[in-house]
Amino acid sequence: ERRAANYVPLTPISLLARAAASFGARIAVIDGDRRLTYAQLDARCRRLASALARRGIGRLDTVAILASNIPEMVEAHFGVPMLGAVLNPLNTRLDPATIAFSLRHGGAKVFLVEAIHRELAARALAELPEPPLVVTIGGEGVADAVPYEALLDEGDPAAAWPGPEDEWQSLCLLYTSGTTGDPKGAVYSHRGAYLQALGNAVTFGLSGESVYLWTLPMFHCSGWSYPWACVAAGATQVCLRRVEPAEIFRLIAEHGVTHLCGAPIVLSMIAHAPIHERRAFEQTVRCAVGGAAPSSTIIRTMEELGFRVTHLYGATESYGPATACLAQPDWAELTQTQRYERMARQGVPLATLDAVMVADLETGAPLEKDGTRIGEIRLRGNTIMKGYLGNPSATERTLADGWYATGDLGVWHPDGAVEIKDRAKDIIISGGENISSLEVEEVLLRHPAVMLAAVVARPDETWGETPCAFLEAKPGAALPSTQELTAFCRERMARFKVPKTVVFGPLPKTSTGKIQKFVLRERARELR
Ligand code: ADP
Repeated sequence: ERRAANYVPLTPISLLARAAASFGARIAVIDGDRRLTYAQLDARCRRLASALARRGIGRLDTVAILASNIPEMVEAHFGVPMLGAVLNPLNTRLDPATIAFSLRHGGAKVFLVEAIHRELAARALAELPEPPLVVTIGGEGVADAVPYEALLDEGDPAAAWPGPEDEWQSLCLLYTSGTTGDPKGAVYSHRGAYLQALGNAVTFGLSGESVYLWTLPMFHCSGWSYPWACVAAGATQVCLRRVEPAEIFRLIAEHGVTHLCGAPIVLSMIAHAPIHERRAFEQTVRCAVGGAAPSSTIIRTMEELGFRVTHLYGATESYGPATACLAQPDWAELTQTQRYERMARQGVPLATLDAVMVADLETGAPLEKDGTRIGEIRLRGNTIMKGYLGNPSATERTLADGWYATGDLGVWHPDGAVEIKDRAKDIIISGGENISSLEVEEVLLRHPAVMLAAVVARPDETWGETPCAFLEAKPGAALPSTQELTAFCRERMARFKVPKTVVFGPLPKTSTGKIQKFVLRERARELR
């Protein structure tokens, strides 16, 4: 017997139906003065799904959305999959040509546009031969667009949703940033999103009492799958448009925020906020960090400020977090400094991921857990994308043997934790020796004047490459001389790893708060 009569396909939509039926009066979403209860959120999602169905949108059609962290973004994560369609969140900081590429490549039939992004949307739409149905959220939209609320009025708040016929049915399409060639569209399934929601909720300790602040853009890997995770837990989501310390502290204090996620840069911004922008809070605020490697220094600084840090690692291809750095019993014997260093490791798989391994760079076989040999980190399980849309060769390359090859280089520790040493393209090779840029950054970030650090390869006639450090100073700090920094590094790392060049200034960052090392590599090449 393959399936008993009680089999139902796993889908994150069921999480919302259950929340609305079980605690409909609880607040699901807060946005400024606006509040949506779970019953209201559920009704609005059903209206969105049925209104789109009445306009002829159906199973596996693509619905793109260009919006900041607003309640409609949460609604789209449920309402669009309810009708079996595929949600395609787009990065609001991309250029019109890239947005147009995604709309065309993803075959968007509907384009939901938040009014503040209408110019970007209009310029992208101008490049399309056949424009989709455009819907504007809040305020004035592009010409001929349907207002979102008017669309919702066409729908039925009690409409039944068909759900996926198969739990492997596609539900989301997320384009990666495409630093090499055209962006690739990672496809998520209902089953994967359901499991990721539960995995996230458990790992990050979300409950019905949790208040989750949207410091992470929801367009980035579907907000690391937290729109679904918060609903699974019955938590309250608080919207945030501008990621600024004063606003973050205000919302933490006013709404009793208990959870937030962010890239290391966001944490750094919170940690170094000027005194007058800070607000005291009484609750414990858990802060998940990921998207790029956090140094032990930033983890320490946040913990000393009263935040509790959880380190997560993953990629768009893994629905966001795939591993978490969980405490081990032997940490009890470590000093506080050693504990923070352990917390900077990427860790072990989430409960809902099948497995993680570090693969030998030549044979692909799992390396021994010796904490020293470097291999490629690979991930396997239901919470890995189905593949890249319309790109079988890239899919085949990245998902060979059922393992997702992350392109991240790391070691495997005896306790099962993986630790990233570098992205394959970021590693520096000097005089034949591999230098992990992260290791050098880790040391530089311990210097009291340094707020952000990025170390990249600079071409060198003698050594092939040498490490070049780009540093952003803490506000008001006196800049140390190159000699002083060199001496600081020499005391703390092997000589060949010490940066030969040091440049102070603001660092270029992506919309998701990652430092753009490819820009810095260019700059390093041009330095004289
Ligand atoms: P992009 O290529 O635009 O950065 P992703 O957001 O999918 O796209 O980035 C995934 C990559 O980010 C990972 O493969 C890894 O290199 C890096 N990353 C994510 N989380 C961490 C972390 N906790 N520590 C180190 N690197 C991380």
